[in-house]
Amino acid sequence: MLVRGGSLLDLDGERPGDLRIGADGRIAATGSLEALAGEQVVDATGLLVVPGGVDAHTHLHLPVGKVRVSDDFETGTAAAAVGGTTTIIDYVTAYRGEDPLESMATWKRWAEPSSVDWGLHMTFTEAVGEAAVARCVEAGITSFKLYMAYPELLQVDDGVILEVMQAAARHGGLVTLHCENGGAIEALRRRAVEEGRTGVLEHATTRPAVLEGEATGRAAALAEVAGCPVYVVHLSSAPALEQVRRARERGVQILAETCPQYLYLDTAALASDEGADFVCTPPLRDPWHVEELWEGLGRGEIQTVATDHCPFWRKDRRAGIRGREEGYADFTEIPGGLPGIETRMSLVWQGVAAGRLSRSDWVRLCAESPAKLFGLWPEKGSLRPGADGDVVVWDPAARQRLDASALHMATDHSPYEGTTATGWPAFVFSRGRLVAERGRFVGEPGTGRYLPRRAPLLPASG
Ligand SMILES: [Zn+2]
Repeated sequence: MLVRGGSLLDLDGERPGDLRIGADGRIAATGSLEALAGEQVVDATGLLVVPGGVDAHTHLHLPVGKVRVSDDFETGTAAAAVGGTTTIIDYVTAYRGEDPLESMATWKRWAEPSSVDWGLHMTFTEAVGEAAVARCVEAGITSFKLYMAYPELLQVDDGVILEVMQAAARHGGLVTLHCENGGAIEALRRRAVEEGRTGVLEHATTRPAVLEGEATGRAAALAEVAGCPVYVVHLSSAPALEQVRRARERGVQILAETCPQYLYLDTAALASDEGADFVCTPPLRDPWHVEELWEGLGRGEIQTVATDHCPFWRKDRRAGIRGREEGYADFTEIPGGLPGIETRMSLVWQGVAAGRLSRSDWVRLCAESPAKLFGLWPEKGSLRPGADGDVVVWDPAARQRLDASALHMATDHSPYEGTTATGWPAFVFSRGRLVAERGRFVGEPGTGRYLPRRAPLLPASG
């Protein structure tokens, strides 16, 4: 197949050119190409041709208390494809007492109906031996998540964090961290409920940004001692970004991810009548943090934009994690997480349209950097011959409503209800197969492949 007449854009720059995907589903050639006899030709005149998006942070199918994330791998990957994302990396959780490889097997079963390629991260929720880390790396999981919050279910202490980092460093892994001070936050939440402060906005006031900054700084210190590269997931605030900057200045290999919700939304949404629909963790912040994050993106201080896609049906949000018919009792029972897998590429593109980011920043943040950091480059995140034919033909002028009813994610509300984005995929290919065409999913469930991943490819330090 030949994608003809577009403007190719990847880490090699932006240049006019054609792109051929071979019968093996890989990019065969780029440059000035003539159609072969019988070759299918896609007209990309006036459009950008970019590597398929890589969303390094998703939660599909996941049970949360008595409810479940509303997108499974079938609906979630279809929505991803429509929005221009052709690779996702989903978080496996090995709960306390579970064998991580068995948890991985569960997720692999869940992921079978995927229509784009997928990889997995492993979350440890208790001390594990070095052998567990080694077995995951052998199975193609080279990134390990640890929570510094949620003491009841997920949090591990600093000793466990250090030991996992040391093991990951020895086996060529990367440790990703949810950075919030869980102990202090639990105390604040308990006090709020005791005092009858149970409204949705308390979700934000009991998780102050300074406690995200504190945990980020602590994670960086532990990484420095362990000599392990670390990646801060869903960085949401200025104090956390400040800690990343400082650690990097002294030579710690620390990478940061943010998410569109922290670039577009703020606490005003939580204070609205629909506040429960905007509960995510870390919480939405005051507007000045939003500005700081955009500046951090522009300066290259934040490496990736992922989604933390974790949608719910509105009725499940209202019922709460305890599944109460009469509705959640207070803010601590609202399931946290927002839909985003379909809108990420376009929302970051709005930053290009607004002059905050360059086009190459957009490709780097949404595809190339996550592919490199999570051991998938150059098969993913690149248009070089030999790379997988994961290609998005992007129409910078296409307008797309961001209402839930206009999108494919399995949820009945959108954080961006009532807004229209400019810039959306015209054609999306996954290993050479057309999976989406101008807002329509045309792929097939079950055609996505598991991606065993290699060691992270890290930016040169300094
Ligand atoms: Zn997450």
